[in-house]
Amino acid sequence: MSTPSLLYLDNVTVSFDGFRALNELSLLLVPGEMRAIIGPNGAGKTTMMDVITGKTRPDKGDVLFHNTIDLTRLDEPSIARLGIGRKFQKPTVFEQLSVRDNLLLSLAGHRRPFGVLFARQTGEERDRIEGILRTTRLGQHADRLAGALSHGQKQWLEIGMLLGQEPELLLVDEPVAGMTDAETAQTADLLRDINRTRSVVVVEHDMEFVRALGVGVTVLHEGSVLAEGSLDDVSRDPSVIEVYLGR
Ligand code: ADP
Repeated sequence: MSTPSLLYLDNVTVSFDGFRALNELSLLLVPGEMRAIIGPNGAGKTTMMDVITGKTRPDKGDVLFHNTIDLTRLDEPSIARLGIGRKFQKPTVFEQLSVRDNLLLSLAGHRRPFGVLFARQTGEERDRIEGILRTTRLGQHADRLAGALSHGQKQWLEIGMLLGQEPELLLVDEPVAGMTDAETAQTADLLRDINRTRSVVVVEHDMEFVRALGVGVTVLHEGSVLAEGSLDDVSRDPSVIEVYLGR
C-alpha cells in the first residue's frame, strides 16, 4: 500500500453466535486524520472500537497500526502503550481529587501512581498539566474537585487525562451525549485543537456536532462501510438516506 497508513482495518469480521457484528469491514485512517464514525444503532461502531483496542478479537482480518503492527495479536494494555487511547461515553474521573491532581495522576511514566500526589512536582509535569488545562479549557477549574464539575467539564477532564498518556491516536465514544449546546460547540473546538497533533476517531450520533467538526465521515451499516466522504456527500447518498438519515 503506497498511501501512508496510521490504522488499517483489513476485512475485519466479528461474529457473536453466528451474527456478524462486523462483516468484512475495511477502513483506512491516515496519520494526522480526524474521522467521524456514524451509523444507526447496531451498525457495529462499538465493536469496531473494541477490535481496535484489543477488547474483542476478530474472527477474520487484520488491524494494522503503522502498516506493520497487527493489533489483533496484542492485548489491551499493550495496545494502550503503543499510543492508542480510548475515551468511553461515561466519564470516570476521581471525583474526590482536584482537576489538577486528576491530570497529575494521568501523566504517562509514573511508577507509583498515587505516590505522585505527595511528591514534589517536576517542572516538566507542571508544564504538561498547564498545557492540558489550556487544551481542555479547564484552567479556571484546576483547583476544584472533579466531582464539582459539570457533566461537560468532566468529559473534558477525562479527555485531558487521556492526553496525559500522550496517545498518537485518540478514540472518542459519543463525547457530546448529554452536553448543552454551548458545551457541544466547545467540544468540537477542543477536538480540533487536539487533532493538530494527534489523530482522532469519534463515534457520534449528533449530526450538528459532526458538522461542527468538519471532518471526513464513515457511515457503518450492518458491520460494513456503507459510505465515506464529507457529511454533505454521505447525507446525499441514497443508500445512507434509506438506512439512516431518512428514518
Ligand atoms: P453500535 O455501536 O453501532 O450500536 P455494536 O457494535 O454495539 O453497534 O453492535 C453491533 C451488533 O452486534 C448489534 O446487533 C449488537 O446487538 C451485536 N453485539 C454486540 N456485542 C455483542 C455481544 N457481546 N454479544 C452478542 N451480540 C453483540
